[in-house]
Amino acid sequence: MKKVYFTVGPSEILPSIPIFTKQAINDQIFSLSHRGKVFEQLFEDTVSQLRKLLLIPPSYQIFFISSGTEAMEKIIQNCVKQKSLHVINGRFAERFYKTALELGKNAQRYDATGSFSAEDLQVRKNIELIAFTQNDTSTGMAIPLREIYKTVRKYPEALIAIDAVSSMPYVDINYKKVDSVFFSVQKGFGMPSGLGILILSPRSINKAKQLKEKGVSIGSYHSFISLLQFADIKQTPDTPNVFAIYLFEKVIKEFLKKGIENIRKETESKANMLYEFFEKSQIYNPLIVNNNFRSKTTLIVTVRGGSKGVVKYLLDRGIVIGKGYGERKDQDIRIANFPAHTIKDIKLLINLLKKYAGTLRS
Ligand SMILES: *Cc1c(COP(=O)(O)O)cnc(C)c1O
Repeated sequence: MKKVYFTVGPSEILPSIPIFTKQAINDQIFSLSHRGKVFEQLFEDTVSQLRKLLLIPPSYQIFFISSGTEAMEKIIQNCVKQKSLHVINGRFAERFYKTALELGKNAQRYDATGSFSAEDLQVRKNIELIAFTQNDTSTGMAIPLREIYKTVRKYPEALIAIDAVSSMPYVDINYKKVDSVFFSVQKGFGMPSGLGILILSPRSINKAKQLKEKGVSIGSYHSFISLLQFADIKQTPDTPNVFAIYLFEKVIKEFLKKGIENIRKETESKANMLYEFFEKSQIYNPLIVNNNFRSKTTLIVTVRGGSKGVVKYLLDRGIVIGKGYGERKDQDIRIANFPAHTIKDIKLLINLLKKYAGTLRS
């Protein structure tokens, strides 16, 4: 039986991915040199289409890297000499924070469990970077952009980094207000894993240059400086995942055709369908209580009686959902709501969740 994946990443792929894959084989993409004209055109097209889709300003750089996790490391290395601050709304935010510690930085954490207000945020002097996980996939807690922009106004000297791995392309960021944004393609872009996207402000690039001049290590082939040198000639320092870039370009074009506004509206209406169902249910309770901080793209729900039963019930019926993250694996379920998930899929899922709840009552 062909399954439907509601896992939070990798997740369900777009129906067009097998078609694009056949085209890639016909175009002999797997053998394409990353130092030739064809690749350079692909690089240029992908970057310009992505700019159009997400309204990324021309002065901002777009780089291809390996993953979201890699972006965390590169941002710390290239934007922080000593001090970073991390707003912790889940385990992915913690990963970002730990990355800074592992790189020898003097990282500060600010715990934001269940809610976050820029007004309450206290930041030490000379903080160089404030890192947000806009949508933490372990807790289903999303930080409203409004609160991020308030933080920007409160601390204008700090660079602002945003992990948007599991909320892109739903989240509509005003790039001009922030300095680094990253995501990977196996979540909201309905693609196989293996490609990370890093978007950088001129300020971020300048900071990397300053650190390099001061003799601080900013990493090697994927330092911002090295990425920039190659991006200038529409190439990457290493051999990138050319196939993923090829797929990505086609997916972006598909999204442009559908219209980003339509994609975002559809994401909201599917999220509303799910949350309305959970609100009425006796056994499913969203982990994040305050509505303003609930993720629209990765929904985490505590299941009365534990998650094991419902995960298996759905799996037996061809629906794959995620268990809770880490130590919450037996308590929560995690459900992705990405563009690859149709309204029909969501209705089917709700129907089965309802039926499972019925088996508990009888
Ligand atoms: C998945 C995820 C990551 C890690 O991305 P990879 O591409 O798997 O390295 C980072 N942050 C968040 C919020 C994620 O959901």
